[in-house]
Amino acid sequence: MAETVMRAAGIEAGYGRVQVLWGAGLDVREKESVVLLGANGAGKTTLLKVIVGLLPAWNGTVALPPQDVTTWRTDRRVRRGMAYMSEIGVFTGLSIDENLRVGGQFIEKSALKRRMEELYGDFPDLAKRRTTLAGALSGGQRKMLGIAKALASSPRLLVMDEPSAGLSPLFVSQVIEVLSRFRAEGLAMLIAEQNIAFLDLADRVFTLDGGRIRFEGTVAELEADDALNKAYFGLA
Ligand code: ATP
Repeated sequence: MAETVMRAAGIEAGYGRVQVLWGAGLDVREKESVVLLGANGAGKTTLLKVIVGLLPAWNGTVALPPQDVTTWRTDRRVRRGMAYMSEIGVFTGLSIDENLRVGGQFIEKSALKRRMEELYGDFPDLAKRRTTLAGALSGGQRKMLGIAKALASSPRLLVMDEPSAGLSPLFVSQVIEVLSRFRAEGLAMLIAEQNIAFLDLADRVFTLDGGRIRFEGTVAELEADDALNKAYFGLA
């Protein structure tokens, strides 16, 4: 069995006195691509924030095995190989180049330089416009920059919050195409989505419903479950 890259277990968390997550847990294995599927408001963003350390867990644990990182700050988790792309993903007031430097701020300078050139090779459209402000890019290009920025730290695990947010179907398929290339290279990914097109990327799926994990399995197993099939694919 492949090594576990990240495991969250029994997570309870929320905002103020409002509890959003009720014992949610999931894990990502080496080279595995996991999709966290859930409707609007199911708690996907909240769970990702706990995993990356932007929101404290009231209960439960987050591990980057062999370390328990539950109390670690986000920057320490990033240094241990986790990268996060939020729904917004980039700093619009910074250039493409500057965004990549922010993404790679925790790695050594010469390694970052090499990494940026690699990424410019992977994203030629960004390479042509290094000094352009991220805010001047189209939605699709901005998302590509968000992915490149998150990859600048050469993570072992890329955690993404709704990469489809705000994108037209054409750009959604371009994002899926780019992510499938990194998946083929063995990058472990955790993708929170409500767009089922992302299931094309999934080795395993978790569904989140009312702050609880309802299903864990393969896409084929999800499709075989009548109630879930109806909920997520809208099929009778
Ligand atoms: P979305 O697709 O809208 O991002 P989601 O599955 O990511 O949905 P969350 O953003 O985690 O869901 O939100 C879960 C619940 O927590 C929602 O009821 C939301 O209103 C609430 N919530 C989110 N952020 C806050 C906040 N900062 N303060 C209070 N409640 C919040």
